Amino acid sequence: MTKLLITFLLLVVALFPGAAVRSSSPEANMPGVAELQKMKARFAPVEITVDISKLPAGEKGALIKMVKAAYIMDALFLRQAWAGNEDLLLQLLKNKSALGQARLHYFLINKGPWSALDSNKSFIPGVPDKPEGANFYPSDATKQEVEDWLKSLPDSERNRAAGFFTTLRRPESGGKGFVAVPYSLEYQGELELAAGLLREAASLTAQPSLKAYLSSRAQAFSSNDYYDSDVAWMELNATIEPTIGPYEVYADEWFNAKAAFEGFITIRDEAETAKLEKLSSELQDVEDHLPVDSAYRNPKLGGLAPIRVVNEILAAGDANHGVQTAAFNLPNDDRIVKEKGAKRVMLKNVQEAKFRLVLMPLSRIALSAADQKRVSFDAFFSHIMMHELMHGLGPHEIHIGGRTSTVRQELKEIYSTIEEAKADISGLFALRYLVDKGVIDKNLEQTMYDTFLASAFRSIRFGLTEAHARGIAIQINYLLDYGAFIAKPDGTFAVNHSKVKEGVAALTTEIVTLEGQGNHEKAKELIGRLSVVRPEIQRVLDRLKNIPIDIEPRFATAERLLAE
Ligand code: ZN
Repeated sequence: MTKLLITFLLLVVALFPGAAVRSSSPEANMPGVAELQKMKARFAPVEITVDISKLPAGEKGALIKMVKAAYIMDALFLRQAWAGNEDLLLQLLKNKSALGQARLHYFLINKGPWSALDSNKSFIPGVPDKPEGANFYPSDATKQEVEDWLKSLPDSERNRAAGFFTTLRRPESGGKGFVAVPYSLEYQGELELAAGLLREAASLTAQPSLKAYLSSRAQAFSSNDYYDSDVAWMELNATIEPTIGPYEVYADEWFNAKAAFEGFITIRDEAETAKLEKLSSELQDVEDHLPVDSAYRNPKLGGLAPIRVVNEILAAGDANHGVQTAAFNLPNDDRIVKEKGAKRVMLKNVQEAKFRLVLMPLSRIALSAADQKRVSFDAFFSHIMMHELMHGLGPHEIHIGGRTSTVRQELKEIYSTIEEAKADISGLFALRYLVDKGVIDKNLEQTMYDTFLASAFRSIRFGLTEAHARGIAIQINYLLDYGAFIAKPDGTFAVNHSKVKEGVAALTTEIVTLEGQGNHEKAKELIGRLSVVRPEIQRVLDRLKNIPIDIEPRFATAERLLAE
């Protein structure tokens, strides 16, 4: 675990002590040292580094300020997740026994005393069940009480009270009901500290769009109005790409309404950005050659949502607990999404770490010996990139018997599963098309299918609970039935290179056509038949038990910067 992280947490916790929380759950049945080690081993430790040698001195100076500001998000998120976290952390730090240290380490991975990979069961005695409303609402409130109170408010007040950037607290005078406290007040001390650092960073950088984001975000920390800085984030075009502030709403399990603090400090990947531009410039040609009736192709693609490929220096707060984020879409403010769209940020070095520590070991179990050699990070990352781009291709607005609709409206509850499968399979189709056209490296033809096969096992490893995994199951079973993938007698899987190109095109035809027809019935049939885990696949999944689930990053470059 990182000493610097703890130093920072201690500093912020000592400056701004949170409320003490009494908890009363029993000591029994808590995991011991050995059990905690096993739980922790599911996260493979890895050093996350970025080459920043090309940054000019001023930019590097700005970067250090941003890293410091991001570390403050760690302390803020701890308090947002649970009011008792800060006191508990201080207690854990004092306990030098093996058990105390093991608990501290796993606490830092989870940013709290509940294990995300074990249905949020607590692993430290004396803590309550994980509060679903986190610390955004008073600990004695119920979901129903909050709902009723919000309903009783006039519209303008309700929007503020139910919005991203307020907590609900009991009135100081006592009594019933709540008051909505703006984040700028609730977290005033930390946010002033962070704003100061962002202003210093803004004064050090020579890049105008970065200066604009940093200054407007610093302003937002005190005004509690994040609109301008969200717009500035969309317009950010700089070698350093920071994302810092209150963003995702998943920590509020009651209403998905309150934003949790996080920080991603990243450096733009110039080589991948160039590759992305090359791929983007080919998209109309790919669309024109989709293996479907021309009625389902779009003769003029609209503007594409921006995508950034970056390398992570530091992830903090909500961005660094449990399973690590490998890509994200922001902002969540609908006004900005309507006006400017949303931006997708792909964290390449995080993807690479997951590839090396999870996907490679997994491929040595799931794939035949010959196929293992064809699993490559370049193919893995190229396909993820193409997947994102392909969401913009194919049918979106569609015409059914004289009426205009959308694929989403027609496919309803199964839309996401079909759309994820479309992006995957047509992404493979597009990569092969561009290899054959001579636009991208010929090597990919040898590696992309095996890499996809290995990554399919990673996606369905934890069941078909979300759209992407369900979409993957459709593809793997379709390609097995087609003879494009082969289940070997020894229990491993392989690609049939003489049939895979044809199989991928055939499934692309099937899925893009049913989207173009808005054919809910056929989509449902396809999912019912193929979105399943068959016994031969389950047998491989059973053998993956000791492969790590994710990574535990240590941000070596960030630590080095702070030590300078
Ligand atoms: Zn997708």
